[in-house]
Amino acid sequence: MIRTALPVKKALKPKRCRHCGNSFAPISSMSKACSVPCALALNDAAKKKSAAKALKVERKSMKERAIKLKTRREWIAEAQVAVNKVARLRDQLAGYGCISCEGRPKARYGGGMDAGHYRSVGSAPHMRYYLTQICGQCKQCNRDYGGMSVEFRRGLIERIGVNRVEEIEAMQGAAKWDIDYLKRLKKVMQKKARRLEKRIAEKAEVNQLLEEVA
Ligand SMILES: [Zn+2]
Ligand SMILES: [Zn+2]
Repeated sequence: MIRTALPVKKALKPKRCRHCGNSFAPISSMSKACSVPCALALNDAAKKKSAAKALKVERKSMKERAIKLKTRREWIAEAQVAVNKVARLRDQLAGYGCISCEGRPKARYGGGMDAGHYRSVGSAPHMRYYLTQICGQCKQCNRDYGGMSVEFRRGLIERIGVNRVEEIEAMQGAAKWDIDYLKRLKKVMQKKARRLEKRIAEKAEVNQLLEEVA
């Protein structure tokens, strides 16, 4: 005699409908709703929930992108500070005054000079770190930029020659720097600035000795 092991079909315990809360006899262990309308209502609620979740994820990634963007902007600005400092110190070591008026404001409260861009960062962003076109410029001239570009050009021609100036005027490119590049640029420029400061201090010392001798 063969005994077939038939699974014993257990009657499922009544459940509570997840939508309306009424007790019902489930068809399967997966049943959640007592009726079609309740099942539809549940389905609807689930859809709304997942849409809300998707929106939350989207908002989070937008926020992350914004943070990333802000960080890059900050790195761009920090690298600019370092590059500008090198330009100012380079001109100070060379004994230059303001590129456009030749004025020499007294270096008080962290220096009377700005670093002026010949081609402005606004109109030529790819030139924002190009040292040759960044010069020590008095704050007055730098802030009255539009009125001083002719004088800036004349000053720059005196220093580097008309050919280099025309080269700079023709330079094309894209302002695309990743954060790693900006970090490296800042570091290299800070090192360069420290070397220039050392040489400026040495020069001042020599000048003082010469004055004492004279
Ligand atoms: Zn129900
Ligand atoms: Zn000036």
